[in-house]
Amino acid sequence: MNIAIDGPAGAGKSTIAKEVARKLGNIYVDTGAMYRALALFLIRKGVDGEDGEAIEKHLDEVDITLSYEGGSQHVILNGEDVTGCLRTPEVSDMASRSSANRRVREKLVELQQKLAKTTPVVMDGRDIGTVVLPDAGLKIYLTASPHVRAVRRYMEMAERAGTDTGSFAPSPEDEAQIALIESEIRERDYRDTHRENSPLRKAEDAVVVDTSLLSIGEVVAEILKMAGERDGRL
Ligand code: C5P
Repeated sequence: MNIAIDGPAGAGKSTIAKEVARKLGNIYVDTGAMYRALALFLIRKGVDGEDGEAIEKHLDEVDITLSYEGGSQHVILNGEDVTGCLRTPEVSDMASRSSANRRVREKLVELQQKLAKTTPVVMDGRDIGTVVLPDAGLKIYLTASPHVRAVRRYMEMAERAGTDTGSFAPSPEDEAQIALIESEIRERDYRDTHRENSPLRKAEDAVVVDTSLLSIGEVVAEILKMAGERDGRL
């Protein structure tokens, strides 16, 4: 059974989808990483994220494939493993802009649909339940308040920089950084939900899970329970 997980940035999609996939033995597909790889390519080419014509001109030069090592996804851009270069604010911003382009979406959606045909997936993104896998056996719409999502992003970045966040008490500088991330998140949410092509929205048959007050384990357990019930029914 394919599982579609959609929702805004920072709702916990990738952590949760990865864990659900591991438990079910499905392949985890992070579609955001594909849009990010394409964004990285455009940044390297010096293309303006709002310049649709320039973006489309370069599309045929881009080859994106996914490979899996020990269950984790690697994104290969024209033969180069760019997985470690995708989570910068610059790439986030470019991905959010360039993903509004119809031809960019067509190219990546085709790839995503091909993948899901060959193997059961847990796929996360913005348009998985609505466009990529409209027949998914289970559709989840994950959400959380913008503030909670900003704090999570900040902690993630701090952990990656080697900070021990075990007993985190935010200083005024931390608060200022979190406020900045929150405003970027709100801006990206706005772009994702208001774009003309495949805007982020809940599929009619998706189950909404608000992760603001839930632990990762609780959300994973809830999704596995629903998947088990659906599987029995299908
Ligand atoms: O999920 P992530 O934050 O990595 O996605 C990066 C950007 O790619 C998002 O802001 C969104 O604009 C775009 N995206 C998309 N459709 C998807 C996945 C991501 O438009 N299925």
